[in-house]
Amino acid sequence: MSVDVFYTESHLLHNPQEELEYGKIIPFHETPDRISNAVDALVRSRSLSFNLTSPTDFGLEPIRAVHSDDYIEYLRHAHAEWTNYVGGDPTRGVTPDIWAIRHISGPRAKPPPSPDAQTSLPRSVREGYARARMGWYISDGQTVIMEKSWQAIYSAAQCALSGAEYLVKLNSASSPPKDDNPVTSLALCRPPGHHAFRDVGAGYCFINNIAVAAQHLIDRHGARVAILDVDFHHGNGTQSIFYDRSNPLFVSLHAQWDFPHYTGHEDETGTGEGEGFTINRPLAREDCHGKDGEEHYHATLNTLIHSHVVPYNPTFLLVSLGVDTFHLDPVGGLGLTTPGFRLIGASIRAGVKLVEAATKRRVPTLFVLEGGYGVDDMGENISEVMRGYVNGLI
Ligand SMILES: [Zn+2]
Repeated sequence: MSVDVFYTESHLLHNPQEELEYGKIIPFHETPDRISNAVDALVRSRSLSFNLTSPTDFGLEPIRAVHSDDYIEYLRHAHAEWTNYVGGDPTRGVTPDIWAIRHISGPRAKPPPSPDAQTSLPRSVREGYARARMGWYISDGQTVIMEKSWQAIYSAAQCALSGAEYLVKLNSASSPPKDDNPVTSLALCRPPGHHAFRDVGAGYCFINNIAVAAQHLIDRHGARVAILDVDFHHGNGTQSIFYDRSNPLFVSLHAQWDFPHYTGHEDETGTGEGEGFTINRPLAREDCHGKDGEEHYHATLNTLIHSHVVPYNPTFLLVSLGVDTFHLDPVGGLGLTTPGFRLIGASIRAGVKLVEAATKRRVPTLFVLEGGYGVDDMGENISEVMRGYVNGLI
C-alpha cells in the first residue's frame, strides 16, 4: 500500500533568517529545507510508496475553534503592523524584545483571563501598540513572523485538517474492514504546531496544527481522539489547549527539562473533567544514550501506549511526530537511531491493532509533523516511522 502525504509549497513563504538562542542571534533552525529535503526523501523511498497530495482549504473556522480571534488577527497582520511601527525593513522578521510570559509556566500558574474576552486584554494590546502586542502574542525569540508567514501558517493547519478528513473518508470506505491495511496518512506541516497555545505562539509554532485537526474530528465527526506526542520537546501548547478536557487524551514522551522548560512533568495530569487525561513521561537525556538508552526509550513508549492509549479506546489516533529525538539532531537529540524510528511506528501500530481487535473497527491514525532539525536525516526518519506503522518490523 501507499501513504498519502499532505503537503504544500506554501511553507516556503515562512523564511526567517535568524533567531535568538543563549543570548545570541543565530541562523534560524526551523528552515524550509526541513520539509523540502523530507519530501525528496519520501519520494525517493524504496521501502514504502508515498503520494504527495495538496491540502483542501477548510477555511478559518476549524482554526477559530481552537485559537482566539484576537490572536489569529495578530498573526495575520503582525508583520505589517510591526514594519509600519519601526519604519519598515520587510526582510526582517518580527521578533519581540519583551515577553508578557503568559501560559509558558504551565498549569501551576494562575489561569489566564478568558482569552475570548477582548476587554481582558491590556489597553496597549487592544489599541494596537505594536511593541506591546508582539510580546503579548509571542513568547520567545525563536517564533519569528515574516511578511508572508501567515500563508504558510494557515496552509500547515489545512494540511493537518486534510489528513484528518481524508482518514474519515478512507475509514468509511473500508468499513467494515476487508483487509489488514492500516488507515493512515501523514501531514507534513511547517511551521510546526505543538508549542502553540490558544492565544500565544512559541517554539517556532503559531497555529497548533494537531489540536485543530483533533478539534475538527471531535466537532464534525464525534470522534474520540487520542493524541500521542513523541517529539523531543514537551507539547505544552497541545496540553494547555486540552488540559481541562477528557477528549482528546493527551500523552507525551519527551526530554526532561529541555524546551519549553517549565512543563511536561509527571504530576501534570489535567484538571476538572480533564483530570487523568493528560499523561507526561519526561526522559532524562543521560538515560537515553547508546543501545540501552534506545531500549529504555522504546520500553517507556510501549508502556505509555499499552497503559494509556489502548485503554482509552480512541476512534482516531493523532501522532505529534517530531523526529528531533534523532541522536544527531542539532536542536534535540535523545539517542534514537534510524531503525529506532521504524520501531516507533511498529509500536504505535501494535497498540492500534489491540484497539481494533477489541472494538472490531479501524483506528485511523494521522501523523502530524512537529520538530526535526537535522535536514539530512529527518526525511529518512519520517519514512521509517511510516514504514514501521504500515509494515511493522518485517
Ligand atoms: Zn521538538
